[in-house]
Amino acid sequence: MKIRTKLMLSMSILIVFILFSLLAVTHIQFFIVRDLAYYKDKVAFKLLQEEFEQYYADHNDSWEGVHDEQFEHSRGFAEIAMVVGGKTLYQQGRLDIEIMQADGFHISLHEHDQKIGRLFVMNDSQYKTYEFKNMWYNILPNTLLVSLLLTAVAALGIIFLLSWRMTRPIRKIVAGIHGIRQGDANVIFPVRRKDEFGAISRALQEMNQSLASAEQSRKQLLSDVAHELKTPLMVIQGEMELAQERDVPLTPEKLSSLLDEVLRLSRLVHDVLDLSKLEAGGTELRPTAENIVEMVSVLIEKTQFLAEDKHIGLSMHASEDVIEVSVEKSRILHALYNILINAIHYTNEGGQVQLHVERMYSPDLQDEVVRIVIEDNGVGIPQEDLPHIFNRFYRADHSRSRPNGGTGLGLAIAQQNIVVHKGWIEVRSEAVKGTAFSVFLPIAKERVRENL
Ligand code: ATP
Ligand code: MG
Repeated sequence: MKIRTKLMLSMSILIVFILFSLLAVTHIQFFIVRDLAYYKDKVAFKLLQEEFEQYYADHNDSWEGVHDEQFEHSRGFAEIAMVVGGKTLYQQGRLDIEIMQADGFHISLHEHDQKIGRLFVMNDSQYKTYEFKNMWYNILPNTLLVSLLLTAVAALGIIFLLSWRMTRPIRKIVAGIHGIRQGDANVIFPVRRKDEFGAISRALQEMNQSLASAEQSRKQLLSDVAHELKTPLMVIQGEMELAQERDVPLTPEKLSSLLDEVLRLSRLVHDVLDLSKLEAGGTELRPTAENIVEMVSVLIEKTQFLAEDKHIGLSMHASEDVIEVSVEKSRILHALYNILINAIHYTNEGGQVQLHVERMYSPDLQDEVVRIVIEDNGVGIPQEDLPHIFNRFYRADHSRSRPNGGTGLGLAIAQQNIVVHKGWIEVRSEAVKGTAFSVFLPIAKERVRENL
C-alpha cells in the first residue's frame, strides 16, 4: 500500500473517530452539565425534597391530593414529576414522564429511612441544557448526516492535497536515488528541509558525493597507473625495436638500462598492489615486539651510503636505548625508509638529516606513544602542496620527469603502513628551510614486552 493511501486511510479513520467522539462527548456533557447545575443550586433541591417529604408526613403518610398541591419551593424548577410505585402522582411542566425519567435529575424521597417516592426534576438551567441536547438530537439524522458527508468530502480533498505535499520529498528522494543508480554525480536532493526528509537527503547527498569522489579517484588511479606504466614500457619497446631493426645485439649498458626500467615497472606494480591492499583494509598484520630504537639505527646504517654520496650528514638521537613497539617490522621499516629516502633525496649536497626517537604521552590516545622525527634542511615543501603529499602519485614538483624514479607513492604507502598500526604521521615544512616528518606509534603493552 502506498504511503499516500495509508495516510488517507488513517486520516479518514481519524475523522470518523473525531465525529463519533464529538457525539459521545455531547451526550456525556449533557449529564455533566445537568449534575453540575444541581450542585450549584443544591439548597433549592433540598428544600423541594423536604417540602415533598413534609407533605407526606402531614397527610398521615399518604400522597393523597398531592397532584393539586402548590409547592412553595417548586418555583425555579421548570419540570417536576413524582413517581410512586410506577405511577406519576404529581407533575409540573410539559415533558413526558419517560423523558423526565431519562433526563431529569433523580431525588429519592424518604421517611424514617423508608423510601416513599421519587422526584424527577429540572431547574431552569437544566431545562435549557435539555433543550439544547434535544435540538442536537433532532437535527442529528438530517443536518448532521449532510454535514458529515460534506466534511468527509472536504477533509478527504484536503488530505489528498496534504498527503500529496507530504510525499513530495519522498518522490524527490526516490528520483534522486534513481539518478545515483544511473551514475549522476549532481543529483539534487531536498537537503534544505528541516525535517527527517532533510536529514535523509543530506545523508544521501553526502553518500553520492563520496561515491562520486571514490569513482573520480578510481579513474584518476587508473589513468595515473597507465601513465606511469607507459613511459618505461615505451623505453623498453623502443630499444628492442631498434635492436631488431638494426639486427644488432643489445650492449651491456643498454641491457642494464632496460633492466632498470623493468625493475622500475615491477616496483611500481608492487607498490600499487600493496597500497590497494592496505587501503582496502585487506592486510592482516603479524606484529611482533620490536625495539624501535634499534630498528631506526639499522635503517640509518643501511641508508648511510646514500647520504654519503650527497655528503649529507645523517645522525640519530634517541631518548633511551629501548622503546618497545608491537609492529610488523617490515612494514614499519618500509614506511620509515620511504620518509628517510625522501629526506635524503630532497636535501641538497652537504645538508643535514637528523632522526630523533623519543617516548611521549599522547593526550588524544591518553597513552604513551613513540615519536620518530625525520628532519632535514632540504628544499622544503610549499604550503599549498602540504595537504596533498600523502595522496597517491602526488609530487610537489609537479614534473613527471624523474631521474630518480619517484612515482609519488612513497608517502601514501608510508602513511597507510603507519595507520594500519594505529599510528599517524605529521609534517612540518618550510620552503627552502627544510622538512620534519613525525611518525607516532603506540607503545607495546606489557604482554608483548615479555616476548622481547
Ligand atoms: P616515490 O614514490 O618514489 O617515493 P616521491 O618521492 O615523489 O616518489 P612521495 O615520497 O610520496 O613521492 O613524496 C611526495 C612528494 O612530497 C614528493 O614528490 C616531494 O615533492 C614531496 N616531499 C616528500 N618528502 C619531502 C622532503 N623531505 N622534502 C621536500 N619535499 C618532500
Ligand atoms: Mg618518495
